[in-house]
Amino acid sequence: MGRLLDGLQAESEEAAAANPANVGSSSSASSQIREIREVQEVENQLRRQRLLALAASEGLAAALVYGQPEAELSLCDQLPEGGVRAYLRALDASNRIGSGLVPSGWSHRLDCAHCGPVWWHRGGSVLACPWCARHRAGKAFPRPIVTCRPCRHAKPDHINPYGGVGRCALEGARIHWPDQRHVCAEHKVGEMSDA
Ligand SMILES: [Zn+2]
Repeated sequence: MGRLLDGLQAESEEAAAANPANVGSSSSASSQIREIREVQEVENQLRRQRLLALAASEGLAAALVYGQPEAELSLCDQLPEGGVRAYLRALDASNRIGSGLVPSGWSHRLDCAHCGPVWWHRGGSVLACPWCARHRAGKAFPRPIVTCRPCRHAKPDHINPYGGVGRCALEGARIHWPDQRHVCAEHKVGEMSDA
């Protein structure tokens, strides 16, 4: 909208320069454009105030709102409060994932078929997750802690399967106690397969 008004203003000024007889009407057009700009500025300020208040109540940084272009924020005008809150949370989550940080409130372990155990806002198993793009790009990201006991790749100790040091079917050199807490990208919940 700003660019459109800039164009209109330039056109009215060009018209005034080309035809002195139009000076009166041109100046009236310029004044209307100024008024529209002022109304827009007030609307933008009110919109940002609303979004900043909602972001603060969600525990999100004000920079999240200030960092977005006006055109994108204006789409929130049509959303109910719940929708705007969801938008702000999604925006924050996207920014944090892009920086390799866990989004606030993501405290559950999710098992992704591509990434293995990852953080999410609820637990379960999925075929793809919000961390997949970062994983595909070979970038690091935080992972939840796991233990070998429930993993299908775990090869328990023959003599003391519940307390002895076991090995990993994927990499024999990897050894852990059954309940030793550690990070593992290949962790898979389920029964050990025969393969
Ligand atoms: Zn994933």
